[in-house]
Order: sequence, then C-alpha cells, then structure tokens
Amino acid sequence: MPPAHGAHGVHDVIVIGLGGMGSAAADHLAARGARVLGLERFGPAHHQGSSHGGSRIVRQTYFEGTAYVPLLLRSYELFERLERATGRDLSLLCGGLVIGDPEGPMVRGSLRAAEDFGLPHELLTAGEVRRRYPTLTPGEDLAAVFEPRAGLVRPEETVTAQLERATAAGADLRFHEPVTGWAELPGGAGVRVTTAAGTYTAGHLVICPGAWAPRLLADLGLPLTVERQIMYWFEPEGGTGPYLPERHPVYLWDGADGPGGHDDRTLYGFPAIDGPGGGAKVAFYRQGEPTTADTVDRAVRPEEAAEIADHAAPRLPTLAGRLLRAVTCLYTSTPDDDFVIARHPAHASVSVACGFSGHGFKFVPVVGEILADLALTGATAHPIDLFSPARFAAS
Ligand SMILES: Cc1cc2nc3c(=O)[nH]c(=O)nc-3n(C[C@H](O)[C@H](O)[C@H](O)COP(=O)(O)OP(=O)(O)OC[C@H]3O[C@@H](n4cnc5c(N)ncnc54)[C@H](O)[C@@H]3O)c2cc1C
Repeated sequence: MPPAHGAHGVHDVIVIGLGGMGSAAADHLAARGARVLGLERFGPAHHQGSSHGGSRIVRQTYFEGTAYVPLLLRSYELFERLERATGRDLSLLCGGLVIGDPEGPMVRGSLRAAEDFGLPHELLTAGEVRRRYPTLTPGEDLAAVFEPRAGLVRPEETVTAQLERATAAGADLRFHEPVTGWAELPGGAGVRVTTAAGTYTAGHLVICPGAWAPRLLADLGLPLTVERQIMYWFEPEGGTGPYLPERHPVYLWDGADGPGGHDDRTLYGFPAIDGPGGGAKVAFYRQGEPTTADTVDRAVRPEEAAEIADHAAPRLPTLAGRLLRAVTCLYTSTPDDDFVIARHPAHASVSVACGFSGHGFKFVPVVGEILADLALTGATAHPIDLFSPARFAAS
C-alpha cells in the first residue's frame, strides 16, 4: 500500500540523489501515483557522479553471476519502454564480445549465463574474431563470446528521460539542493530530510547517493570503496570507419591473457558513436585509484593516457591514435562487487541503493522498479537477497 496521502505534508516519498538509480526510482514511484520529492545536489544529468560519459555497456550473458540475468531481462524490457514512451534514443544493441582465456572466468561465466537462460550467443575462436572485426587482434590462445543483444545505453539520455517522465507524472524534482541530513521520525512514523534550503517530511525515504554513500549512509557502516576511473576517447589511426557501430561491437577484454604480456587490467570499449570527430571510447574496468566524491582529482595525467594506449596497442592496434579527450568518473564498490539494495536494516521507512561496483547502469530501470516496490509495499518480487547489506555485518 502506498503511504496515505496527506500523512506527511505534500510528499509520500523523498528520493535523495537523482542520478542513474534515483531518477529511475522517481520515475517508477511517480508512475504508481506516489507524490515524490526528489533532491539532487547538482543539476539534471550532471557529470560529477557515476552516470555520465555518453555510453554504458549492456549485456545479458553475465559472467558476474547468473543471479543477475533475470534482472537484466527485465531491465532490457524497461529500457525499451522508456525509449518508446519518451521518444529518446537510449540504446544501441550493436552486439558485444567478451574476449579472454577460453577457460577463464569471463568467457566461462558468459557461456554459463547464456546456456542457463537460453540467451543468443556464439563462441568464437580468435581467428573468427579477427576476420569479423579486423580492429581486434586476439592471439590464438584466446576465445570470445559474442552476444548479439549486447550493446550500449546512453546514461545522460536515460537519466534525462527518467526525470522527464517523473516530472510529467507529478514528481517535484529539485536540483542544486544538497541534502545535509536525514532521520527517521519516532516510532517509524516516516522521515525528515534536511537540505540547505529547508526541511521536508514524508512517509518513506529512498537514498541513492552514488559515490556519496560513505557520507549519507555512514550509519550503515558499509565497506565501500570509491574509485577514480577514466574514460578516454581516441581518434583511431586511419579514421573511425572500421569502428562504426554497424561493424563494431562493444567489447570487454580480460587483461589476464592477451598479447600485451600478463596484465590483469580488463579493457573495455565502444564503437565510434559520436560522429566523425568524436573518436572511439575505451577504458579500464575496475582497479582505479581510491578517492572520495568530494576530493577526486578530475585532471587526467598524460602518463595515464599513455598507459591505456600502450595496453590497447597489441589488442586494437589502430585504436589509440590521437587522444581527443579524457573524463573522470566514480565507481563505488563493495568487497564482492555485488550491489546494496534493501530496506535499511535499522529504519523501516528508508530504502537504500548503492555500491553498484562499476556495473550498475545496465540495471538502472529495474533498480527503479525495485525501489518503488520497497518504498510502497515493503517488499519486491525481484530476487534481491544477493544485495542485502546484512552480508557485511560479520566482517
Ligand atoms: C567510468 C564508468 C564506466 C562505467 N561503465 C559501465 C558500463 O559499461 N555498464 C554498466 O552497467 N555500468 C557501468 N558503470 C557503472 C554505472 O554507471 C553506475 O553503477 C551507476 O551510474 C551508478 O548510479 P548511481 O545512481 O548509484 O550514482 P549516480 O548516478 O552518481 O547518482 C548519485 C546521485 O546522488 C547525488 N547526491 C549524492 N549526495 C547527495 C546529497 N547529499 N544531496 C543530494 N544529492 C546527492 C549525486 O549528485 C548523484 O547525482 C560505469 C561507471 C563508471 C564511473
């Protein structure tokens, strides 16, 4: 049951943080008739958190764990619906490759998810990859799982679409209004949220703080690490032609193998989706510098760009021509890289979503649906036991 209208002034649910997850929560809550107040410290679809940079990989043959696959199936449906409802160009399913040791966790895990859920896929030899995608030059000892329904979604467009739809359904979304504190009212009778501009009450609070979780959810004591990550756009030598999405997939390349020598950094990248001068985007997966959301160094050092160019050179020899731009972004990771999505263990009027560990964007709309379930009914039919904060209680 939604909280009774009128019990807490004009809002049933307050959402803190209107990035990827919070904009999705606002969208789903407003669509179900809840009166939503959204509070965001920056502007709409800003570039200070974790949901910017033009593209995010989406895939369903999930080597991270088959438990994620049902959520991904639903997420794809919800992305499609959002795209249709708003007329925005949110996704591009150009196909995706996971390249690595045929017996390694990325290739084996992708195959397991594909087989368990009957997902379309092909297992390719290195030679088949080189023939199909001449930009990629895996050595003979590697293999790849090709997933035709993998591709990318556009994070800023997605956040904007969700904010637009929430607003159209009556949500009151306030930007440049940082939350300074929150508390549950005595007897679990709702919540009070304080910002630089005022104090608000509501029946339920949804907290989606991204890299600010260590501050806004300090009471949970979660073992979160905030990492500085860098996205690079290079103008490929010889031009973007071979990298256009009609002929180039998204890719993840397990760094433990490959011709560049033994290096455990996984490389991932995208086709050239930003027009002739936009280049192709590439980045390292995980293992960024530890930082905090407020102190992160946004400047990218020349040696960092040189490191990724060197790593890419034996794998995609034409990719790292001229560096066009480099942008920092934040991962907020848990020790097991699984998310935290739950009712707050100590406060029944509060739900939380954080710790998306560098792989959360493809789940954005389904996380919005889950948070709306938790806020309005106290439970969800989606499988979220994996995401309980209780798993860290003993550590
Ligand atoms: C470089 C990079 C590449 C990635 N690649 C992929 C990928 O390919 N595929 C994939 O699925 N995922 C990927 N991810 C992960 C994914 O983007 C994140 O998991 C997701 O964006 C996290 O969303 P969020 O809502 O938790 O955080 P955010 O979108 O950052 O939202 C948190 C919001 O809370 C706001 N906030 C914080 N504190 C306050 C406060 N006190 N008051 C008001 N507002 C506040 C912030 O301003 C922010 O807007 C990537 C992440 C990065 C950084």
